[in-house]
Amino acid sequence: MDYQQLTDDLHIKFKDEIDKGKVATYIPELKKVNPNKFGINLYTVSCESYGAGDFQDKFSIQSISKVLALTYALKLVGNKLWKRVDVEPSGDPFNSLVQLEFEKGIPRNPLINSGALVVSDILISKLKNPKTEFLAFVRKLANNKQINYNKDVVASEKAYGYKNAAHVNLMKSFKNIKNNVDEVLDFYYHMCSIEMSCEELSRTYLLFANGGKLTYNDERIISRGRTKRINAIMQLCGLYDEAGEFSFRVGLPGKSGVGGGIVAIHPGKYCISVWSPKLNKKGNSFKGFQVLELFTTRTESSIF
Ligand code: GLN
Repeated sequence: MDYQQLTDDLHIKFKDEIDKGKVATYIPELKKVNPNKFGINLYTVSCESYGAGDFQDKFSIQSISKVLALTYALKLVGNKLWKRVDVEPSGDPFNSLVQLEFEKGIPRNPLINSGALVVSDILISKLKNPKTEFLAFVRKLANNKQINYNKDVVASEKAYGYKNAAHVNLMKSFKNIKNNVDEVLDFYYHMCSIEMSCEELSRTYLLFANGGKLTYNDERIISRGRTKRINAIMQLCGLYDEAGEFSFRVGLPGKSGVGGGIVAIHPGKYCISVWSPKLNKKGNSFKGFQVLELFTTRTESSIF
């Protein structure tokens, strides 16, 4: 398979196609993005990289970072984490509050906002300098010291984050948040503000295609078993109330963010990232979804 040819073809095919999506506006800072940006990058576990379009431009990875926070928290507290967060698909939007009260402050899974806020709370409890240490962890996975938080995005989310504040307060009332509410929100917004290019994203998430080991030095970060579980959670929960559709049409574990990125993993083979900022009604990249669908069709490489 000529992957370079394929990523180029997909880029050409979708570049000028009508995009029915809309850039996220509820975080004002995200509105500033050029809506026509479009990049694709494929990284194989043997460390070959194939990119097309704006694959080296940085963007806000947003919720895609929730997988990294989960990975770090699992390393620190192990299976105890599952007492505070469940592993079921929510079938609801990423920021929905409805289930949380019925289910007594236990989030459905770690990849919706409430779940990632509990994971943030765990990291704050365990780390001395949570923001610095989390960033160092991400940089290690990325093998790149140029990965950073975007302070403007943090400030923008903080100023309009009424719903996230509601989540933390509700969970605090059920005693599923141990730390100060503002501290939890501050960490969570920093985590979401991380910027990466498609190429950096694929490189970082290659860990989950490589059985939990870094490809660049063979260091084990998480066990095979835990890697399997994280991929399973991405498969069932990574695209929120569109996770079923993503499994149906793409057939890979994946994670999206409102910055317009989607990363997908083929265990044992590759990691692919797409960035196109216009989102469909479920908050997932409109074009990104289509590109990934055609990619797994052309390569016949879904996990199913
Ligand atoms: N920071 C965003 C929020 O909390 C993340 C949402 C997302 O990417 N789906 O709303």
